[in-house]
Amino acid sequence: ELLAAETPPAYTGERRIAFEGAFALEGVTFEYDDVPTLRGIDIEIPAGARVAIVGPNGSGKSTLLNILVGIVRPKAGRALADGLPYDQLDMTSLRRQIGIVGQKPAFFYGTVRENITYGAPDATDGQIDDAVRMAGASRIVAALPNGYETQIGQNGVTLSGGECQRLAIARALLRKPRALILDEPTNHLDVESVIDLVTTLKKLPHAPTVILVSHDPRVIDFAEITYALEDGRLRAHEHQFSQSRRA
Ligand code: ADP
Ligand code: MG
Repeated sequence: ELLAAETPPAYTGERRIAFEGAFALEGVTFEYDDVPTLRGIDIEIPAGARVAIVGPNGSGKSTLLNILVGIVRPKAGRALADGLPYDQLDMTSLRRQIGIVGQKPAFFYGTVRENITYGAPDATDGQIDDAVRMAGASRIVAALPNGYETQIGQNGVTLSGGECQRLAIARALLRKPRALILDEPTNHLDVESVIDLVTTLKKLPHAPTVILVSHDPRVIDFAEITYALEDGRLRAHEHQFSQSRRA
């Protein structure tokens, strides 16, 4: 599972950058308990690109994302942001510029507003509305008994997986991330919703880099660059599934 953004970074560098959204992994390997998961990953993701990484469950997609956001250090190889290796960077600062939507977004007991503005306490009502609209969550909020002031969780409203996903996307977008990372968004949203979301993001003045990983090959419809992760290696992915679907 993709770890929460609040998890401490695995690096201790101090250099702060105004992140442009470019990532690279060079020769990255990772193993859990001596079982190799990633066996030499090289990937270059240009700023503003839309990238899909597909692979079966257990193939190491979430591990790869945790390395990319600096929560996990590779056993060998290195990760870079805007061409700078992570061990030089203040990763807490970098991570504030990256929106992360995990497989099971977490919400705390509190109002919808408190949950969405987590990490962006100074957000204005207009900015909150914009983020919620982009995330396709306006109708969800409007349908809640007290709108943004509705309590979630204990003694409050329970949200469905899809509702959580959209509110988590709104929370990520409110921080105006230079990169948005989505782990298994189709677990709770249909493919068309995911593609709509990415199309919306693409139209933003400073379109963030979008990295989406999924076991569902249909998500490659949204991407400019697609990779398949298999046996611990990344390879360029052919758009076969996508083309047969459109035909
Ligand atoms: P995916 O996201 O593609 O489903 P993961 O990156 O979550 O794959 O996991 C890759 C492999 O590593 C799986 O075999 C999984 O069981 C194993 N794994 C993941 N996390 C841990 C962990 N914390 N400890 C041990 N093994 C793990
Ligand atoms: Mg996963």
